[in-house]
Amino acid sequence: MTSPQNLIEGFHRFHEQHFTDDDALYRQLVQEGQTPRILVVACCDSRVDPALVLNCAPGDLFVIRNVANLVPPAESRSGGRHGTSAALEYGVRTLGVAHIIVLGHAHCGGIRALMSGRRTGNGNSFINSWMRLAEDARTRTERELADAGPEVRARACERHAILGSLDNLMTFPWIRERVEQGTLALHGWYFDIECGKLLGYNRTSHKFEAL
Ligand SMILES: [Zn+2]
Repeated sequence: MTSPQNLIEGFHRFHEQHFTDDDALYRQLVQEGQTPRILVVACCDSRVDPALVLNCAPGDLFVIRNVANLVPPAESRSGGRHGTSAALEYGVRTLGVAHIIVLGHAHCGGIRALMSGRRTGNGNSFINSWMRLAEDARTRTERELADAGPEVRARACERHAILGSLDNLMTFPWIRERVEQGTLALHGWYFDIECGKLLGYNRTSHKFEAL
C-alpha cells in the first residue's frame, strides 16, 4: 500500500526526471503558462487517473475529477458552489481547450450506489445529492434493461451517465457556441477496467466502440 513516505520518494524521482538534467518542460510550462488542448472530466476513483491511463505528460490535460465524472447542467450562480462548472469555465473560456472528454469507467462506485438505491449516510448525504445528476441515466437504464442483472445494468448506466454529461455540457452557452462554431469538440469515452479497453461514443452508430 502507498504511504505518505512512498509519495515523498515518488516526488523525488519526479523531481529528478523533470527538474534536473536540463529538462526544459517545466521551464517552458512556467514561462509560457499552461496551454492544454484537452479538458477531461474523470471520476475520483483511484483506478482511473486520466494522466496515467492516457499516458500524458505534465501540461497535456486540464483535469476535472468528481464522483462518477458527472457534469451538472448550467445553473444560476446564486447558491451552491459549482466547482465543476467553474473549472469548465476556466478550461473553455480562459485556456480555450479544443476538446472536452467525459471519461467514464466500469465498476464506478457512484453509479453502483445510484443503481442500488443504497443510501450512503443520511438523507442529506452529499453523494446522494450529487448522484441525482444521473437520475435520468438510471431511469433510462431501468426502462431498457428491466430484466437484466445488476452488473449489466450498472455497466449500461455508467455509459448513459456519460451521454447525460455530454448533453449537460451543451447547456453552457459558451460551450454550445464553440461546438456550433466547430472550435470545440465533445467526446464520451469509457474505460473498461475489467478488460482494459478504451471505448468512445460513436454519434453515428449510437454505440460505444473500441478506440
Ligand atoms: Zn467512478
